[in-house]
Amino acid sequence: MHLLIATSNPGKLRDFAHAAAAHPHITLAPLPHLDTIPPPEETASTFAGNALIKALAYSALAPGQIVLADDSGLAVRSLNGAPGVRSARYAEDENWQGEGTPDQRNVACLLDRTRGHRYHDASYFCSLAAVRDGQLLATGTGELQGYLIDTPRGTAGFGYDPIFEILELGQTMAELDPDTRLEFSHRGRALIHLLKSLT
Ligand code: IMP
Repeated sequence: MHLLIATSNPGKLRDFAHAAAAHPHITLAPLPHLDTIPPPEETASTFAGNALIKALAYSALAPGQIVLADDSGLAVRSLNGAPGVRSARYAEDENWQGEGTPDQRNVACLLDRTRGHRYHDASYFCSLAAVRDGQLLATGTGELQGYLIDTPRGTAGFGYDPIFEILELGQTMAELDPDTRLEFSHRGRALIHLLKSLT
């Protein structure tokens, strides 16, 4: 079975490629020409809703093929689930004035907004939708629980990984080797969940 992934995020593509390597019956490739249509507005209030919006929009680029889209993010307990579906745009939403890449600005903004909070629990969530010719074929979800640390550590991964620590490992997501990352990843878990109903 061949799946086309509708994302240009290199961190997500790496996660998917690694997860697919563990499933010999699937092949997985980035959906070509992603930038030839305007990205759909992510107007849903849930990860699942936004994954479906993306998968439906991008399936138009690959008639007859299975297109997979992901919506993911970090939910912080002491912020009532924020940044959530706004994870990619958190610093922008909060009008954060700091410098750096979008990921660095999001991390700095989140550290600022959670400074002094009593609870540091957070979860990564990932929702996947697989669509062919505008028809939803399957969905999958994955969660990874952890907690936020106040000094970033590690250089692997992307997004909020340097400040997201996995309790049982005592390491941040940005410190994990690819195999350990796959074992824990919310994205890998969502893919396994989706494949159960797709195969
Ligand atoms: P999306 O592209 O709208 O799904 O936004 C996903 C955003 O959530 C990313 O830009 C990151 O900020 C964050 N995120 C999701 N998954 C991960 C992950 O595995 N590691 C780090 N950050 C993540």
